[in-house]
Amino acid sequence: PHTLTSESCTDGAATPSPDEGFQEEEKKVAEKDVARPIQIVVANEEEHSFELDEAALEKILLQDHVKDLNVVVVSVAGAFRKGKSFLLDFMLRYMNSQGESSWMGGDDEPLLGFSWRGGCERETTGIQAWSEVFVVDRPDGTKVAVLLVDTQGAFDSQSTIKDCATVFALSTMTSSVQVYNLTQNVQEDDLQHLQLFTEYGRLAMEEIYLKPFQSLMFLIRDWSYPYEHSYGLEGGHAFLEKRLQVKQNQHEELQNVRKHIHSCFSSIGCFLQPHPGLKVATNPYFDGRLKDVDEDFKRHLGELVPLLLAPDRLVVKEIGGNKVTCRDLVEYFKAYIKIYQGEELPHPKSMLQATAEANNLTAVAGAKDLYGKNMETICGGDKPYIAPTDLERCHEEFRECSVRHFRSVKKMGGDEFCQRYQSRLEAELDEAYGSFSKHNDGKNIFYAARTPATIFAVMFV
Ligand code: GDP
Ligand code: MG
Repeated sequence: PHTLTSESCTDGAATPSPDEGFQEEEKKVAEKDVARPIQIVVANEEEHSFELDEAALEKILLQDHVKDLNVVVVSVAGAFRKGKSFLLDFMLRYMNSQGESSWMGGDDEPLLGFSWRGGCERETTGIQAWSEVFVVDRPDGTKVAVLLVDTQGAFDSQSTIKDCATVFALSTMTSSVQVYNLTQNVQEDDLQHLQLFTEYGRLAMEEIYLKPFQSLMFLIRDWSYPYEHSYGLEGGHAFLEKRLQVKQNQHEELQNVRKHIHSCFSSIGCFLQPHPGLKVATNPYFDGRLKDVDEDFKRHLGELVPLLLAPDRLVVKEIGGNKVTCRDLVEYFKAYIKIYQGEELPHPKSMLQATAEANNLTAVAGAKDLYGKNMETICGGDKPYIAPTDLERCHEEFRECSVRHFRSVKKMGGDEFCQRYQSRLEAELDEAYGSFSKHNDGKNIFYAARTPATIFAVMFV
């Protein structure tokens, strides 16, 4: 397998304009079949639609030497300009070095890979995969295929949050390890976004699985409180424990986010990564050379990458308890993207909670309507009196049918939240039954205060 040469990454100098240079470069790279990032899912931010590039995905995953191997999908997800590509490039170095201890590279090697476009990278919300699938021998003698994935989106405008939620959901559903890349801290809205993505994923997966997703790793870049929680996995664990703790006096919304996240992943971890130093963060000419990167950062990078990618740490992708091969993964991608291209999923506009509320309310309304229509066919205004026991039987049957309808509607908010609306529906149905029943009683000629003549007339109609 080839990787990019250093010339292909240097910008400007030898080429007349950066744009032309990049286009030339892109063509050359595509022709030579050099390993590179491939856009597999694109969000069209004008039309709010999503495209899966099936051909590109198949070209990656249906290569003869990998298509039948179980696949490990490690994805790094998060907003733009937060160092995801930088990390992924070190992951590539690790994968390319085949277990050498010097995998991180020499002091003077520019960093290549996901960041090869440098500053010219168009910021598209979507999913990119590395074109080379790595084959790894695991200690237990099995071979697995490792796919590296980069997922990014902008969270700044409401109109794009749905697009983001969709691509993040897709990547969470299709990865075995999702690295959620954040800077400095875990903010409440980071958790809310995560809840939204996972809720979106769960909706598409029909809620058949107890824990729909596998492994989640919060990665906090530029951690600056090592005296409170030390860098690395253990500090991260303690920090996350505290951050995700459900407290009694916490607002319900905050509690829900936490419970939800716990309920979605089989395992959750957190890694606190130090700041890489000012050259990395601010120097526009920085090209990834290790000599410009802070020691602390490198040391912890040296822990983080093997934690995710060492042969004995690799997590094979499973869906519904079944291991997934590269070939299967193509089919899952196709099936999942179809769900998001359809119309039946709710469109989150602002806060997840508001959406969940609206979903549940419309589901309640629909279910009540169904009950009402059914009851009308039995004891509507134009229907004769029916024996109360028969009416009760019908009520019970239609009530059950209505609740079933409510439960079958896809809605957000999680089980507990929806259960509350279900109880509300049930109470409302019982109330409606009360008035149907009263109305029915009113039709009972033996109790109604009517003249004998009327009774006579009614009896012989
Ligand atoms: P991406 O858009 O998330 O893929 O971000 P990039 O990997 O392209 O990095 C964006 C900028 O952040 C680059 O200038 C990097 O040099 C810099 N960078 C990379 N890692 C870190 C980090 O851990 N902390 C800080 N502060 N900057 C970083
Ligand atoms: Mg990037």
